[in-house]
Amino acid sequence: MSIPPAATSSVSFSQGVNLMADRALALLNLADGLAETIKACNSVLQLNFPVKMDDGNYRVFQGWRAVHSDHRLPVKGGIRFAPHVNQDEVIALASLMTYKCAIVNVPYGGSKGGLIVDPKTHSVGEMERITRAFARHLIDKGYISPGGNVPAPDMGTGQREMSWIADTYKKLHPHDINYFGCVTGKPPTNGGIRGRVEATGRGLQYAIHEFFRHPKDIALAGFDSGLAGKRVIVQGLGNVGYHVAKFLQNEDDARITVIIEWDGALHDEKGLDVEAVKQHITEHGGVKGYGAGAYIADGKSALEIDCDILVPAALEAQITIHNVDRIKAPLIVEGANGPVTYEADERLRARGTVVLPDAYANAGGVTVSYFEWIKNLSHIRFGRMGRRFDEYRGQVVIDALEEMVGKEVPAHLRDKLTQGADELRLVRSGLDDTMRLAYQEISEAFHTNDQVNDFRTAAFFVSLKKVATTYMEMGV
Ligand code: NAD
Repeated sequence: MSIPPAATSSVSFSQGVNLMADRALALLNLADGLAETIKACNSVLQLNFPVKMDDGNYRVFQGWRAVHSDHRLPVKGGIRFAPHVNQDEVIALASLMTYKCAIVNVPYGGSKGGLIVDPKTHSVGEMERITRAFARHLIDKGYISPGGNVPAPDMGTGQREMSWIADTYKKLHPHDINYFGCVTGKPPTNGGIRGRVEATGRGLQYAIHEFFRHPKDIALAGFDSGLAGKRVIVQGLGNVGYHVAKFLQNEDDARITVIIEWDGALHDEKGLDVEAVKQHITEHGGVKGYGAGAYIADGKSALEIDCDILVPAALEAQITIHNVDRIKAPLIVEGANGPVTYEADERLRARGTVVLPDAYANAGGVTVSYFEWIKNLSHIRFGRMGRRFDEYRGQVVIDALEEMVGKEVPAHLRDKLTQGADELRLVRSGLDDTMRLAYQEISEAFHTNDQVNDFRTAAFFVSLKKVATTYMEMGV
């Protein structure tokens, strides 16, 4: 059953995204009707299809794929499997994809898919038949293809589902040599790219790194030191939340003080062991019963615990008019899509809480999906042609240095100089560059425009300007 929007907000998810976009559109001085053209969702396909269950009976499943804007092709966006998906949510998420791709300069339009299903209640065999049936109908109606519409994982889906979708497409189009490009987020052993699974969490980490390189922005959050030692709350230890929590803890010495899951929260000011908590969730299905830290049964209330950085990485509408005034984090980094409702966002803006918005902060996934799609269309792994050559060149430099100065190059420098870039390094480098440049564009829009006083409006401003330019140049 869908959660009615009124429970968390007076406007629906898609209306909320449009209202957030309106703040930036008001500053862009576009031709009459262009703003409405950009905001409108181009098409939504609703499907009701039967699947045979393990017990021999049939069940009808309902799902959607929305294409928000095809000003660039293909359109791109994940497929979500969850018991509460609804059409408005899919439309909202598709529009966020349009804006997100423009922010990080990924040349795609925006799309999204959702299917009402609880993967926890089905066998692997049933999930495969459900996924393949959904994919078959979407392919049949032109809503999946390498040049037209390319899904990816989202909540409740991952490499396994993307593999099934790619195989379904291949069977229907056996002569399309680009069939692998019909979906991203596949396993590296089956057309995927290294670094895609971690990409959204990694992108969040790079976004936070870039934030901490900007003294003016650090000051806005009231911080007087860097990322090390910062207290972080992460909501949702799934794909996005787990990776960002792990990287911040292991690589940046941040303290993950609170982890919130569907069955409650864990709190330990000394810091929780992310890997151990993840292991507990894998074994027991939730955080309850974990041996360290305090357990809080009302997980959502833990969003209000004092911290430095709050990373909502589970569901939409988690910070609402009902709890926003009790949220203490001076910096919110949106791992999930739409975790802050429109009204709550207005309050956060008014009181100056820094929010790195979803359309920027969680764009690491679509960025690496773009790399995967390029790999699929070029039919070659990144680094395959140049890696050994780079290593050889490094060795030549070492030989030349040693000959000239008569001393050996130290081992740690020798290793660095003779290391050619493999696929994972190149993916991380491309992602880091993307997140840095996008941050710089957003931060500049923020600091150079008197009428922009928050990062979300700045991000929309940057994005909508690009989308509007494309519309005007190509002609509507
Ligand atoms: P996921 O299914 O891997 O993880 C979601 C996690 O949230 C799970 O651990 C789940 O148990 C937990 N959860 C469910 N209900 C909860 C609740 N009430 N309170 C706390 N935790 C709860 O999904 P994901 O792929 O990590 O996606 C999470 C969010 O990030 C979604 O909003 C999604 O749209 C967004 N996102 C995902 C990607 C991606 O690459 N996967 C990219 C961009 C944005």
